[in-house]
Amino acid sequence: MIMRMSQLFVRTLRDDPADAEVPSHKLLVRAGYIRRVAPGVYSWLPLGLKVLRRIEDIIREEMDAIGGQEVLFPALLPKEPYEATNRWTEYGDNLFRIKDRKGGDYLLGPTHEEMFTLLVKDLYSSYKDLPLTLYQIQTKYRDEARPRAGVLRGREFVMKDSYSFDIDDAGLDASYARHREAYIRIFDRLGFEYVIVRATSGAMGGSRSEEFLARAEVGEDTYVRCTHCDYAANVEAVAVRPPAPLAYDDVPAAHAEETPATPTIATLVDHLNERFPREDRPWSAGDTLKNVLVVLKHPDGTREPLAIGLPGDREVDQKRLEGQLEPIEVEAMDEDELRKHPALVKGYIGPSVLGEESASGIRYLVDPRVVEGTRWVTGANVEGQHVIDLVAGRDFTPDGTIEAADVRDGDECPSCAEGTLEAARGIEMGHIFQLGRKYAEALDLKVLDENGKLVTVTMGSYGIGPSRAVAAIAENTLDESGLIWPREVSPADVHVVAAGKDPALFAAAEQLSADLAAQGLDVLYDDRAGKVSPGVKFKDAELIGVPTIVTVGRGLADGNIEVKDRATGERTEVPVGSAVDHIVGLVRG
Ligand code: ATP
Ligand code: MG
Repeated sequence: MIMRMSQLFVRTLRDDPADAEVPSHKLLVRAGYIRRVAPGVYSWLPLGLKVLRRIEDIIREEMDAIGGQEVLFPALLPKEPYEATNRWTEYGDNLFRIKDRKGGDYLLGPTHEEMFTLLVKDLYSSYKDLPLTLYQIQTKYRDEARPRAGVLRGREFVMKDSYSFDIDDAGLDASYARHREAYIRIFDRLGFEYVIVRATSGAMGGSRSEEFLARAEVGEDTYVRCTHCDYAANVEAVAVRPPAPLAYDDVPAAHAEETPATPTIATLVDHLNERFPREDRPWSAGDTLKNVLVVLKHPDGTREPLAIGLPGDREVDQKRLEGQLEPIEVEAMDEDELRKHPALVKGYIGPSVLGEESASGIRYLVDPRVVEGTRWVTGANVEGQHVIDLVAGRDFTPDGTIEAADVRDGDECPSCAEGTLEAARGIEMGHIFQLGRKYAEALDLKVLDENGKLVTVTMGSYGIGPSRAVAAIAENTLDESGLIWPREVSPADVHVVAAGKDPALFAAAEQLSADLAAQGLDVLYDDRAGKVSPGVKFKDAELIGVPTIVTVGRGLADGNIEVKDRATGERTEVPVGSAVDHIVGLVRG
């Protein structure tokens, strides 16, 4: 097939769009792949749609290869199934809700667990029908709080979602493993760098769960890898290995001390070292227990205070905290809200007024490092005072633990305890999880087993975002001159540029394009004549990012064309006579 630049519906832009910060977003707009319609809502132009479709085709092939069967659900869905699983409420503001003319409640589907569960329930009733994998490639809607970076985080986006149905846990494990293999093949073919990390299963519930992340500085996810073993996890899913409890027989009784003008951990540590020096070593921030107050916003609108205790050298990581509490959202507790709890003395809050049984009644959860016998300096609940030698398990007992502290480079690996963790950023491209029986139970999906007994089906849920993938791949491969597509997803196999004015040169470029197309290649042919200079054509070719750029220009006089590798910049002179074979060889590898 030949696409001619003179005809193609594209206008490349010299300037970055005003609303774009992320490089892939700028380039996808400038190169004429996408256009914005509303925040987080984009149209696909011919070049963009080609890339999107190629990604979808790869996914489709690999899903079919593991026995998945493609179906297609509507995006417009009735409320009832989502009420049965409570997601009508849990999705909160993220759900697009609509009323029909009769006042009936509908939604635009954010993901389709309910619908697939009900479809299988409708038609299947025996263990003999299982295992089953169904999937769709379909438009999803989420009213994201922060739509971002073009199609990277849209409010309308494309998702491949598949669902496995099995009679027992072993079946689910096998379905999960098959999906994992298919995902590895898909992401290998998509041709960019990715990592597989442990994940939390979030609003979906369920147990085993992994994410496929594209490595990217602009990514919103942070993941860690161990320097020693193969542990890799989204920071949301890192579970700190709690230290062993310590003996505290020798620890003196807790004592409150005057610590004037110590509003920060740093000033407190300085004051301790000056007035209450330790014999063994200086005090450090990690000796203090910091108590952070937040408000939990439940999906039904109710608000609940929560206190989090963590070592003073750590911060609360909001994403990690929300990852544990999903679908609850978390806000900092402001002054007004704090005043509603007279037991709390701002800046000097300590465990003695925290906990469900305490004067404040506020639930108190601590970092897993705060184990029995650990010894802390913390607020005394008196203006200007801190308590020293406050021992966990002796002087206070929290209501439980929570993984809310930030995870850092150099932290101990929770898996092998020999290596340390290294953090990097990524974009979530795919997510596979074992849902278990949550949806089947809520919607009563049961089948008869071999003994004629009704058993609840166990499910897995597996997502990939093809539209996000367009942006993530672009982000992973681009350079300062433009996009650079991996071969399997490029909008064309080769970009032929007729560079000059001589009609003979256009004739040769036309012939080459036709010969390449006859070999089954997709050719983008820059046949623009007249005012469009070779310089403009080269700039456009770099911007559009087809991996092989062929110039039919000055060299033609000597019987040569030039083949340029967009990624490496490497140029090769090739005789016209062998050009087709050479280029087909490059494309087919
Ligand atoms: P995120 O944490 O980035 O919001 P998610 O955990 O909500 O993603 P899933 O519900 O697991 O995402 O959806 C499956 C896949 O759909 C994701 O891995 C991602 O590729 C894609 N996806 C999710 N939300 C969006 C979005 N707003 N825009 C584009 N793609 C998305
Ligand atoms: Mg996810």
